[in-house]
Amino acid sequence: MMYLQCAKVVDKISDIMDGHASILVRMRFHGHLLLCKNCRRYYDQLRTVRTLSGQVKSVDLLTELPDDFGQVMDFVMAEIEPEIEPEKGEKDA
Ligand SMILES: [Zn+2]
Repeated sequence: MMYLQCAKVVDKISDIMDGHASILVRMRFHGHLLLCKNCRRYYDQLRTVRTLSGQVKSVDLLTELPDDFGQVMDFVMAEIEPEIEPEKGEKDA
């Protein structure tokens, strides 16, 4: 599974906070935060600033990740990027 790189995370943070990012980006973003302290801290700081200034929508306050986040993520990824079905041998040679 690929995660957004730090530069892309920083690049996408505004979109995510504004609710403009796709679900795929959002899931990858939060997945990256799980792995990356730097981005998590950056996101927390930015979120705090925005909260204080009243610019954060409630839908963006996904700070508490559920215990089954990994399963949810797998489900979402499967929905977005379904496995490639094997070729069916329907053609006659
Ligand atoms: Zn990072």
